[in-house]
Parts: sequence; structure tokens; C-alpha cells
Amino acid sequence: HFNFCAGPAALPTAVLERARDELLDYQGRGLSVMEMSHRSDAFVAIAEAAERDLRELLAIPDNYRVLFLQGGASMQFAMLPYNLLGQGGTPNYLYTGIWGKKAIAEARHLAGAHVAAESAPGLTAVPRQADIALSEDAAYLHYTANETIGGLAFDYIPEASVPVVCDMSSSILAEPLDVSKFGVIYAGAQKNIGPAGLTLVIVRADLLDRALPQTPSMFNYRLMAENGSMYNTPPSYAWYLAGLVFQWLKQDVGGLEAMAEINARKAAKLYGAIDASDFYSNPITAGNRSRMNVPFVLADDALNGAFLAEAEAAGLLNLKGHRSVGGMRASLYNAVPEAAVDALVSFMADFEQRRG
Ligand code: PLP
Repeated sequence: HFNFCAGPAALPTAVLERARDELLDYQGRGLSVMEMSHRSDAFVAIAEAAERDLRELLAIPDNYRVLFLQGGASMQFAMLPYNLLGQGGTPNYLYTGIWGKKAIAEARHLAGAHVAAESAPGLTAVPRQADIALSEDAAYLHYTANETIGGLAFDYIPEASVPVVCDMSSSILAEPLDVSKFGVIYAGAQKNIGPAGLTLVIVRADLLDRALPQTPSMFNYRLMAENGSMYNTPPSYAWYLAGLVFQWLKQDVGGLEAMAEINARKAAKLYGAIDASDFYSNPITAGNRSRMNVPFVLADDALNGAFLAEAEAAGLLNLKGHRSVGGMRASLYNAVPEAAVDALVSFMADFEQRRG
């Protein structure tokens, strides 16, 4: 079976096998990682190794802190303005889709927000650098690198005179990244990092002084950083699994350059098949097509049910589009092998021939 779910998403088989082997007895300690104190030497070693491997994969500079939190990317929508508005100013956002809209709504609850640029109606292309108009008192500029539902991705890193903040939930670790261009990067884990329940935040250390005084403790980046993300009980098992994914990326895949090449090939195959057919279509401007989430529609909506049922019978799982847009969506995250795309493309050709 191949799993094209948008999230929680497929995990590398090698990671699941290792987790299975270590489930009851972690390295002869007589207990599961799930049962360990997060303060134990064994778990602290797991946690530190995960951070070390992540730092190596993304070449994270020393002046950035890495936080392993809970609450999902949605909690970051709120946590972020609490942490960055202590010196005043207005949060600025680029609007390119549904997730960005939710982030903007949370900033508005707290402080108001300025939309510095947005996609044209239809959300088929991202705004260009020249379109970005910050408010005079901008505190930061937030954007969504990859809109998971629309399948719309930035093909550049926006620049600004204020810290750039990015929701990378559905694209982190898909390719190498210049972390130094960002003030804060955050991501829910359940696509390219590990299981749901863990949220990654990478924050430039000098920004840890900007929290609003009323920031709740559990929302406070500084407090979390000072406590090694163990201010309270962390999502320890998810943290361990993320560590296994980072090891897999380093050792089995060979790093993010190699991962990026595989991801580029996977996406090219699927978009190529969509573009070569009149039966399938995807509306996104070529340069902004997501390599991670590929939404597409059939020429005849009435065939959606048959497409999904036959795909599932062929072992191609979770291809139903997001409930807000309909159609299909194939998510091609890191753990989805190229063979999955080959199988999908040949199923699509066969379905078109029979039913198109
Ligand atoms: N941002 C993006 C780009 C997402 O894809 C998602 C989830 O799919 C979220 C935010 C929300 O993440 P969470 O469910 O971890 O709150």
C-alpha cells in the first residue's frame, strides 16, 4: 500500500520497523521509550541526538534555538505574536491560502494584523517580492512556505527589514534551507518530521527577548528554550520518532540534497502526467506548484467516487482532496517513495483510459 495522506502522513518504513523493534525494550533497558522519565539519561540522550541530527540536516546556525513543543502549528499561530510583539508594532502577513488565513486570524485576536501582500483570487500564484508592502510599524513578516490544501508553494524566500517568520509545516526537510534568512521557523511534525503531537520551532536567539508580558508560561519561547523544551512533560515518544526520521534522512537518504532530488523527480512525474492529459488538471502557476501536495481534479466530478474507490482497491490510499476544495490531492512527502508515484501515475492513465 502507498499512503498519500496530507497529514498525519506516511512515515518511512525503516523508521516504523525500528520503532517496532524497540517498542517494548529500548536498547536492553527493559522499558519502552514511552515509559521513560523525560529527565532520565536515556531519554535526554535521545532528545539531544534528535536536535543534533536536525541541526546537521538543516545546518542550523548556533545562534538559533530549537524547541520541541506540543500544540501543533495551529498553536504557533497564536504563540508567535505573543512572543514577537513585546516591543510593539503590527504583525505583517502574506496571504496565500487557508493556513495563512488562520495564522492571520490569531494575530488579529491579539493585536491586529496587516496583510502585506496576497495571492490574486483563485490562489494560483504567490505574491512576488516587489508586491510586498510592509506596514510602517511592522513587527515581523509571516508567510506559509507551502499551502498544503491549495498546493501552492513559494519559490523564493521573501526578504524584509523585520524578522521573517515561516510556517513550514508541510515543506520542512524536503530540501536544504538557509535558516539564517529567518527569525522563526515552525512546523507541525505530522508531515515530514514524525507523528502528530510534536511541533518544531526554530527561533533566532535574539528574538527571545520580545515576548508580551502577559504571555502564558506554556506559550513562552524563552522559558521553553531555557528548559530545553522540558518546562513540562514533552511529547517524548513523538520526539524519539522524529529523531529516528532525522537519522533516516541522514543515513538512508543521504541528506537533504539527495532528498530534494528525489522529491523533484516525484513531483515532476505526477505533474507531467496531469499536464499530459485533458482528463486531469491542476490550476497552479508552474513555478508555484507544491512538490509536497498535488491537488488535481477530474474532467468529470461525477467520477470522483469511482476514482477514489478504485485507487484504494489498488492500494493507493488517502487521495481524497481537502473537504474545502474537493477533487483529489496526492501528498508526496519525504516518506512517500518514488514507486508510489509510479503506481499512482499508471493507475491514473489506466483509469482515464477506462472511464475518461
Ligand atoms: N500550517 C500548515 C501549512 C498545515 O499544513 C497545517 C496542517 O495541515 C497546519 C498549519 C496546522 O497544523 P496542526 O494541525 O499541527 O495545528
